[in-house]
Amino acid sequence: MTMETVIPETEVFIVGTGPAGASAAALLSSYNIDNMVINKFSWTARTPRAHITNQRTMEVLRDLGVEAEVMKLASPWEYMGENTFCTSLAGEELGRINSWGTHPQRKADYVVSSPTRVCDLPQNMMEPLLLRAAVPKKTKVKFDTEYLGHVQDDDGVTIDLLDLITGQKYQVRAKYLIGADGGNSRVVSDLDLPLEGKMGVAGSMNVVFEADLTKYVAHRPSILYWTIQPGSEVGGIGMGLIRMVRPWNKWLIIWGYDLKDGPPDVTEEMATDIVHKLVGDDTIPVRIDTTSVWTVNDVHATELSRGRVFCMGDAIHRHPPTNGLGSNTSIQDAFNLCWKLALVLKGQAAPSLLETYDPERAPVAKQIVKRANDSIELFNPIFKTLGLLDTQDPEQMQKNINSIKDATPEGQEQRAALKQAIDNTDVIYNAHGVEMNQRYASSAIISDGTPEPAFQRDKELYHQASSRPGANVPHAWLVKNGRRVSTLDLCGKGGFSLLTGICGKAWVEAAKKVGDSLGINIAVHIIGPGQTYDDPYGDFARLREITETGVLLVRPDFMVGWRANRHTASATEDLYTALSSILGRSDEKIHAARTDQNLDEHAGIPLKDEWI
Ligand SMILES: Cc1cc2nc3c(=O)[nH]c(=O)nc-3n(C[C@H](O)[C@H](O)[C@H](O)COP(=O)(O)OP(=O)(O)OC[C@H]3O[C@@H](n4cnc5c(N)ncnc54)[C@H](O)[C@@H]3O)c2cc1C
Repeated sequence: MTMETVIPETEVFIVGTGPAGASAAALLSSYNIDNMVINKFSWTARTPRAHITNQRTMEVLRDLGVEAEVMKLASPWEYMGENTFCTSLAGEELGRINSWGTHPQRKADYVVSSPTRVCDLPQNMMEPLLLRAAVPKKTKVKFDTEYLGHVQDDDGVTIDLLDLITGQKYQVRAKYLIGADGGNSRVVSDLDLPLEGKMGVAGSMNVVFEADLTKYVAHRPSILYWTIQPGSEVGGIGMGLIRMVRPWNKWLIIWGYDLKDGPPDVTEEMATDIVHKLVGDDTIPVRIDTTSVWTVNDVHATELSRGRVFCMGDAIHRHPPTNGLGSNTSIQDAFNLCWKLALVLKGQAAPSLLETYDPERAPVAKQIVKRANDSIELFNPIFKTLGLLDTQDPEQMQKNINSIKDATPEGQEQRAALKQAIDNTDVIYNAHGVEMNQRYASSAIISDGTPEPAFQRDKELYHQASSRPGANVPHAWLVKNGRRVSTLDLCGKGGFSLLTGICGKAWVEAAKKVGDSLGINIAVHIIGPGQTYDDPYGDFARLREITETGVLLVRPDFMVGWRANRHTASATEDLYTALSSILGRSDEKIHAARTDQNLDEHAGIPLKDEWI
């Protein structure tokens, strides 16, 4: 008897259960799309890795319905910000900078920008949480499964896999493939995506350990403590980072190594010694959990997809952890792509919608890789003002550091220069604009002809809300039955939304006609007194940048796709044109049909089979 080979099928196949792959699985599941996700290892990330979770990512997690669970597990914002430079935790402080928006003058910027809060959730806790959100719905997960390669054709992708337990090779057939397979992405190599930059620009080692450091840190809560120790046996200048994993008994030290010497063999003894030196107390009991080495990269892909295969996360942006952008950007890549895949797979959008992933996300990849690498350079002025670059002699370095306490003109100058150098790291630690000011330009963003408004403040440091197409829908607190609801809560969940005012009621009729015509649901929310959602603070009226009869068309990823300043006689037509363009359905056939007849007669124009 011969066994017939059955090739399992799924709609979207995802390589990698990291932040990118796991969030893609959860999002696709939430949109009711069958997907399969694999990991070559037996479980999700075992080490804490990325941790800072910014507000844009929290908005994605809110849309997924897991924000409350994340907040429950995460270390809260209040524990994150007393970023300290010191000679050791037990030693002298050299300076501090309030980080992640925790300075009293910055807090309001963060609070008004989003219904969500920054928090700190280590990657080894985030990944299972995302998979838990995915699996009960439409996701199948397979561990111990290695991606070997793929072939795509007109109808789909055939993926070659290796079961690492049985040693058997097999194939899966999918309509689309996502390469979320990290910084050494095989999918990116197979697609031969163009990469710019350089891999391996510096060496780093991670030491994860348990130690109760409450007495050294609880009075100055932070996720980062920078220690500068000339003469330490490893790491040149001797700058090491002690990063909080769980307050205040689980930690990760990041320590550099010289790439010329190759990765060190980090023994438990060596790791314990590094911990004791950086803490400055060798009586503290320490349990080493794991050690690992990794390299700092400076690479971004300029193209992110080919045909039916899309790459995301570290696969397309590889950079150091400075600014904490890795996992955040990975999750946001998934948020951009997954609703598009869902609509195409449901036959509601043309495949050309998927071509907007590259122009929308490639600039973000480039921007964050540059930001994270430029940020590393901002540490040099700190070393310089401490006199660490002028000599190789550790004793002289220590003397140079000590001179910041001198009551001399030189001491005074050095103190001011050090404070300035630390303040200049603001763009690492409070880069709210980098996190929040994404602006997309593609065929899925329909311009209203207005020019891009200039940023009023530094665009890397400060978020500037805008309702111009290509920007995130501004967050404003509305009120429903006495309770606060964000404008974001009226949008998302895989659907398009229209936000308008009381005088814009005519959009309800327009949305119905256009929705029927295109075969999609469009949620319409009229915001004002006596409506389901009121705007008692007037924040939405201030932020919407359109008249009360106008409308914002919000895409499922919270991006404004189109807006109209007022309701006019051609409103239905304009909405139809905008939405069909976003969906890639403004092809000649539909247009020809549409110009011939009235919109009402075109309810449910079918998508061509071959589009899917
Ligand atoms: C050791 C280490 C320490 C880090 N520390 C920090 C940090 O301190 N702070 C910070 O901000 N960032 C850190 N990062 C970076 C951060 O973890 C990444 O930005 C983030 O994980 C990117 O998510 P991703 O989903 O794109 O990729 P990854 O998290 O790398 O996930 C890739 C996934 O693909 C799977 N995979 C890869 N190849 C295959 C294959 N052929 N077949 C099947 N599965 C495959 C992997 O097993 C994994 O599940 C660190 C990264 C590493 C490796």
